[in-house]
Amino acid sequence: MSTLLVSSPTAAPKALQQPAWPDAAVLERVTERLGAGLPLVLAAECDTLRRRMAAVARGDAFVLQGGDCAETFRDLSLDTVSRKMDTLFATADELSEAMFLPVVVVARLAGQYAKPRSQPVETKDGVTLPSYRGDAVNGLEFTAEARTPDPHRMLQMYAASGATLNVVRSLLAEDGGQAACRELFVSHEALLLDYERPLARTDARTGETYSGSGHLLWAGERTRNADDAHIEFLSRISNPVAVKVGPRATPQELLALVDRLDPGREPGRLTFIARMGADRVRDALPDLVETVAAAGAPVAWVTDPMHGNTVSAPSGHKTRHFDTVLDEVTGFFEVHRALGTHPGGLHLEMTGEEVTECVGAGVGLGDVPRRYESACDPRLNRSQTRELGRLVAELATP
Ligand code: PEP
Ligand code: MN
Repeated sequence: MSTLLVSSPTAAPKALQQPAWPDAAVLERVTERLGAGLPLVLAAECDTLRRRMAAVARGDAFVLQGGDCAETFRDLSLDTVSRKMDTLFATADELSEAMFLPVVVVARLAGQYAKPRSQPVETKDGVTLPSYRGDAVNGLEFTAEARTPDPHRMLQMYAASGATLNVVRSLLAEDGGQAACRELFVSHEALLLDYERPLARTDARTGETYSGSGHLLWAGERTRNADDAHIEFLSRISNPVAVKVGPRATPQELLALVDRLDPGREPGRLTFIARMGADRVRDALPDLVETVAAAGAPVAWVTDPMHGNTVSAPSGHKTRHFDTVLDEVTGFFEVHRALGTHPGGLHLEMTGEEVTECVGAGVGLGDVPRRYESACDPRLNRSQTRELGRLVAELATP
């Protein structure tokens, strides 16, 4: 038996970054259908990842987390999923060999369909429409029809995520390819509460509540206030959880997050994903890491060298420079080495395709428009991901 996770009737914490669904009755029918559906991941798998993340928190393992900024229904194919997995596994092997540590592989996959936006609307040629919030909410095309949020898209997200996991599990099981007999977990930002809440279930074994939508869920930099709805939701599930942490985060905010999300101080429960920017990581990160360590909080620290380093290319595309990305990772390792703490992992926006969204390591600034396919932020392509893996492996060699 599974039961829905209902929010408490008294407290209604603020839910930022939620779509303005046009029709409450349609929304209700959709959330009912999600609530009646099967979970996509099992509680026991989430427990396994918690144990793996506990090793990361203790300094006995490293985690490689990566995938698209935004998955799209259009780009979903057996080839894209399998090439993404191969790229992650090959990069993980290289890191593992250099570090003499097991590398846990966690894909941004099978659920990464909702995006927070800094602007709620977008204006083009005098026309203002709602911003694209991910395929789970509306369409990327700049028309009023596409940009109107449609709750049915959450059912499409559920189906697409389930189909993706089906392929993932087949490739891991017996395909004979590079992924055979490996372990892979899936993760996404738990942004869309109308999707996440109905998919949370009580585990019959333990009576604990787990998210059925992915193994590891995280709260983004824009929705990580300890008193708000996203953190409240994460506090109610027993999955391993993570929080993105930007350069304006204060030590007090992180302590409040530890109290909310990991009151039992259990290694593997909570990961902080630092996304400081290459120019800020060396001065903004040490205080945060030290404060959290001094409080005895056994969190894992991961670097996201993507989100603090986004710039505009002359073509107008959002891009990131490979050298800047590497510089932030280098800074992250320097900070942890100086403090004697463990640089626990790497969080990348990447793909197995040879896109030209990030600059450097084979892609020139003028190449950017040539194969720019991301619906949101620029991703490292396959070659860039492998090259970054090689350089981080060098950096991390004990
Ligand atoms: C993301 O991971 O795509 C994202 C929006 O990150 P952040 O919350 O760190 O800005
Ligand atoms: Mn992104």
